Amino acid sequence: MFSFTKLFRSRDAKAAAAAEAPAGPPQPTIYARADHPVSRSNISPAALKVLYRLKDSGYQGFLVGGAVRDLLLNVQPKDFDIATDAHPEDVRRTFRNCRLIGRRFHLAHVRFGHEIIEVATFRAAHTEIDEDHGVDEVEHRAIDEHGRILRDNLYGTIEEDVWRRDFTANALYYNIEDYSIWDYVGGVEDARNRILRLIGDPATRYREDPVRMLRAARFAAKLNFTLHPGTEAPIGELAYMLDRMPAARLFDETLKLMLSGHAEASLEWLIRLELLAHLMPDVAAALEAAPESAGSRLVQLGLEGTDDRVHDDKSVTPTFLFAVLLWPAILRALGTPDGPLPDDPQRLLDASDKVIGRQLQRIALPKRFSLPMRELIMLQTRFERRSGRRALRLLEHPRFRAAYDFLLLRAESGEADPELAQWWTDLQQASDDDRLAMVENRPVSERGEATRSAASRRRRRPRRRRKPSGAAPTPP
Ligand code: ATP
Ligand code: MG
Repeated sequence: MFSFTKLFRSRDAKAAAAAEAPAGPPQPTIYARADHPVSRSNISPAALKVLYRLKDSGYQGFLVGGAVRDLLLNVQPKDFDIATDAHPEDVRRTFRNCRLIGRRFHLAHVRFGHEIIEVATFRAAHTEIDEDHGVDEVEHRAIDEHGRILRDNLYGTIEEDVWRRDFTANALYYNIEDYSIWDYVGGVEDARNRILRLIGDPATRYREDPVRMLRAARFAAKLNFTLHPGTEAPIGELAYMLDRMPAARLFDETLKLMLSGHAEASLEWLIRLELLAHLMPDVAAALEAAPESAGSRLVQLGLEGTDDRVHDDKSVTPTFLFAVLLWPAILRALGTPDGPLPDDPQRLLDASDKVIGRQLQRIALPKRFSLPMRELIMLQTRFERRSGRRALRLLEHPRFRAAYDFLLLRAESGEADPELAQWWTDLQQASDDDRLAMVENRPVSERGEATRSAASRRRRRPRRRRKPSGAAPTPP
C-alpha cells in the first residue's frame, strides 16, 4: 500500500530546502519515484514510447494533466497527454506517425493504431482563448485594443506552462527522466485532500475561460472532490458568462459532463453551483418547480442508466441523453409535469419544438442528434395506439428501440402506464401470429409467456420490468 505519510515527509523536507534557496524562478516540489504511487505499468505503452523517444532525442518529456491526477488517485486515465520542450516541428521530425493539428499547428498527435497521444509544447500563460476551439487551440499573440501584437512568444518553459492550467490537481508533471512528479502548485496535496482548487485568482481564471466553471462541476463529480471555498465562491456571480459562450463548445462540455460515468453527480453539481440555469434554463426551471415530479424522476433514472451504461462500456447517444434531460421541461411546457401526455400529438409537437428550439440556442446539439430526438419524443404518443397494423408498423420504425427504452423510463418514473410499457414488451417477444392477435385485440394462442390473453395479462401482478437502459444506442 502506498504511503501518503512518506510522500508528505519527503515533500516537507524538500520545501524546507527550497525555502533556504535564493529567490529565482518558481521551484517545484519534486516527488521522487519512491515517494509517489504513479507506476509505469499503468501508463499506456504508446505514451511511454513517446516519452522515451523524446527523452532519447534530448528533449524533456512529461506526462501531464488528467493522467497524472488520475494515476495519483488510483483511477484509470481516459487519455495520456504529454508536454515537452520540443517544438511541434521537432516532434514531427521525431515521429513518423505524427500529425500537427490546431489552427497554428501547436499540437502534435502521435498515432499508434487507434490510440492518439497528444504532445503539446510548453506554452506561456498569456494566451487568449479561442472560443470556438477551446484552450487547446489558442491564439498565442496577445493583442492590444489597436490590434497591435504585444507578445508573440508562442512557447514557454515548464515553469510558464504550469500557470495556464486550470486546477492544481491538473497541473502535475510526471518526468520520464527519473519518474518523479513535479508540483509547482500544491496539486499533490490537494489531490490527497480531494480538493479542487483553481490556480491563481479564481474570478480572473473563470473570466478568462468561463467553461472552467463547468469543468469544476465535472471534476468535482467525477473525482468526488469538494471545491475549495475560494474556487466555489465566484461561480454564482460569474455563471452568467456561460450565456455568451459558443453553443458548439457548450455541446462538447455538456457531453463530457454527461458521458463521464458520473452524469447524476454532475447534474447535482450543476444545480448546486447554479450553472444549470445558464446551460439549460428550461430544464433548471422545471426541476426546481417540481423536483418530485415524474419528469424530474425520469431525469434521475435516465442519468443513472446512462452512468451504468458508461461503466459497462456500452454506447451512449446524445439523442437519448438530451431527450431525457429535456423531458421535464417539455412536460412543464405542456402544463403537466406528471403527465399524462395530451391526446392531440400536435400539442406535444409544439411543446417539444419550443423547448428544443430554445435549448439549441445555447447548446448546439447537431442535427444528426436533434432530429432523431424529436422523432423519439413524438413516437411516445404513438405507443398509445395499440390496435391495428399501425402498431405493428411501429416495431419497424428505425427509432422504435430508443423510443421504447424511453417509454420504459416514463413508466418507471410514474408518468406512463406500466401496463402500456408491458404490452409493448410482450408485443416484441410474441410470435408473428400472436402479434396479430394482440393488435386485433383477440385472445392469443396457447404458447408461452407472450401468448396469454390481453385480459389475463391485465389481471396479473405487473412483472418486474427490465432495467431501463439509459441513453441506449440508436442507429444514426
Ligand atoms: P479528463 O480526465 O476529463 O481528460 P483532463 O484533466 O485530462 O481530464 P482535459 O480536458 O483532457 O482534462 O485537459 C488536459 C489538461 O489541459 C488539463 O488537465 C488542464 O491542465 C489543461 N486544461 C484543459 N482545459 C483547460 C481550460 N479550459 N483551462 C485551463 N487549463 C485547461
Ligand atoms: Mg485528458
